Amino acid sequence: MALKVCKFGGTSMADGHTMTKVKKIIESDPDRRFVVVSAPGKRFSGDTKVTDLLYKCHAELMDHGDCKLAFADVRRRFEGIVKELNLDFDISPVLDDTERRIEEERSEEFTASRGEYLAAVVMARLLGAKFIDAEDVVFFDESGAFESKRSYAAIAAAAEEAPLAVFPGFYGVTPEGRVKTFSRGGSDISGAIVARALGATVYENWTDVSGFLACDPRIVESPRRIKMLSYKELRELSYMGANVLHSESIFPVRKANIPIVIKNTFRPEDDGTSILPIAQYVPSGNIVTGIAGKKNFIVIFIEKSHMNTEVGFVRKVLSVLERFEVSVEHIPSGIDTMSVVVDSSHIDNFKLEQILESIKEAVEPDFMRVSENIALVATVGHGMSSSVGTSARLFKALADAGVNVKMIDQGSSELNIIVGVKNEDMEKCISAIYREFFGNGRN
Ligand code: ASP
Repeated sequence: MALKVCKFGGTSMADGHTMTKVKKIIESDPDRRFVVVSAPGKRFSGDTKVTDLLYKCHAELMDHGDCKLAFADVRRRFEGIVKELNLDFDISPVLDDTERRIEEERSEEFTASRGEYLAAVVMARLLGAKFIDAEDVVFFDESGAFESKRSYAAIAAAAEEAPLAVFPGFYGVTPEGRVKTFSRGGSDISGAIVARALGATVYENWTDVSGFLACDPRIVESPRRIKMLSYKELRELSYMGANVLHSESIFPVRKANIPIVIKNTFRPEDDGTSILPIAQYVPSGNIVTGIAGKKNFIVIFIEKSHMNTEVGFVRKVLSVLERFEVSVEHIPSGIDTMSVVVDSSHIDNFKLEQILESIKEAVEPDFMRVSENIALVATVGHGMSSSVGTSARLFKALADAGVNVKMIDQGSSELNIIVGVKNEDMEKCISAIYREFFGNGRN
């Protein structure tokens, strides 16, 4: 029998009306037995997500010693939800206890996690399902890394024989028994962890869009929907800013070849996007699958004659960055040149100066240049490796659109071509590439 783990995002959990849709979705398919939920998100534009209300609670607690004002908003949200759902459930004691624990723990991560906790308590009531607290089954080690083996075993044991169970997403527990959260949007990761632990046949990720689009709809009007993606393509696109799914959420399911399907709670009949291991991936015939971009990188360009014969050159450059604890995103290189691309949020001006000085000392380059405010645009697709002339088409399209390319990096897997352009050219760059590969039916 198939087993589906379903994760519902913040907009699916936003109020009683949307939670009723979730219930319908779960009840329409007996294979949908395990549910992972986010905290209630925005109900309308301008609304505040419960997680953000909770971060406010923590700030108030730090300033005033309690979080009465901010927690009143959280309380109202959940009381409203229970009322809309007509549930025979008095949530007040749970809310009182949550407020008390927030004030006792005085931990930002604990406070932030309560949106998922409360949402899961309500959802379990609504579905008549077992509530399994992530605090009891999702473990982090001393260094803060997710402890997979122990967690998978605990999740499987807790879910055993439960016909239907609900888990809160976003958090787990440290060896000291403190609640710890994943990064923002981390319930996607929790969903993947539960899917892996239970050996799901599919991980359904329910959100408010019908899957991935070939590029950002704010840049190109109504871009094409992507029906199928490989894990690798997904990783490239989501790392580069296509933010339907948290970029870390692939890892647990990828190892077990569990497909992910992105579905729309508000249009459940839509196919959505399937994300599959390469062995199950059916090439769409398209050269390019998708295009995504991200702004604010710094490129350090280094040139030195005979760099290629100087043993340890690249290592010396990278050691400098390691010493300054800056992670390197890309290293495009030529025979006598290399560039190091770093995310500018990891580096301030002073640090950059020091890094440049240290690189000069370490490798004595002939020439060095720094380009700031660079956007990276990734054009991704398995189809690119087997089709001649893809980069020629891409660069011609950019030249025709008047986009100045500052850097090129073609990944060794031939899965993507990354170009660096000025921040302000990113949108123009993406639409030119889209037009070339999707706009005229030649993709
Ligand atoms: N509620 C958390 C956030 O807003 C986690 C999640 O929704 O995945 O980031």
